[in-house]
Amino acid sequence: MSAITPFEELLQQVTRAAHDLWIKGWAERNAGNISVRLKQEQMPENGTATQDDWHELGFEAPALAGEFFLFSSTGCHMRNVELLPERYLGIIELDEQARRFRRVWGFSGGGRPTSELAPHLIAHAARVVASAGADRVVMHAHAPVLIALTYSMDLDTARLTHLLWEMHTECVVVLPTGCGFVPWSVPGSIDLARATAEELSKRPLAIWQFHGAIGTGPDIDTAFGLIDTAEKAAQIYKHAAACGGIRNKLSNAQIAALARAFSVTPDPEILGE
Ligand SMILES: [Zn+2]
Repeated sequence: MSAITPFEELLQQVTRAAHDLWIKGWAERNAGNISVRLKQEQMPENGTATQDDWHELGFEAPALAGEFFLFSSTGCHMRNVELLPERYLGIIELDEQARRFRRVWGFSGGGRPTSELAPHLIAHAARVVASAGADRVVMHAHAPVLIALTYSMDLDTARLTHLLWEMHTECVVVLPTGCGFVPWSVPGSIDLARATAEELSKRPLAIWQFHGAIGTGPDIDTAFGLIDTAEKAAQIYKHAAACGGIRNKLSNAQIAALARAFSVTPDPEILGE
């Protein structure tokens, strides 16, 4: 039996993540999108020769010059990606100034990368710097309870993070630097991209007010797991509130004890005294 190639393995991981976004209820209709900054060994075996023209990005991302990215396509329904990965996924190449892109694999129905291209690429640029090149995945999902919190509460990064840490014992261990809060902007806009990158330069997860989550990491499982953990903490908050109100929650001392036990350092500006 021939071994699976790194490219085939990546396609399996991305198609399963797309399926899971749908099953979780995080990707209605064409919601949700995924991108991966590719390693050399993850390039498709049959090469990336292309007839595609270069397309202007409308912004620059110098940290990503010459890089290749796997993207879900605009308008694609996450529940369908596993059926036709070559149609609903594709690879783009950025030029040496990181001002233009062209399609070099996939998008077989003539598709283009997600309409959230700007937030994805600017998020990648922020995480390349913040993680010294380790982070390669950006994932966007409509995680409903996290979104609901942005309607029901006045939030900022510190308030949101503290709430998540207090409501789930494992949250500070998984998210010691917290969850960024990004005020509402038009989806796909440069304003949204820049505000998101500001948060992602300090932490790997952010919530877009009234919209959804954007998780990052070195691999698909990490990015997915961050959104999943934050959404679980938000669900516990919701269930506790519905079960008669929140009488108890993890104290700062308990959160600090968890951090010591698991050798993580919570953002001191968020944890407070
Ligand atoms: Zn969205």
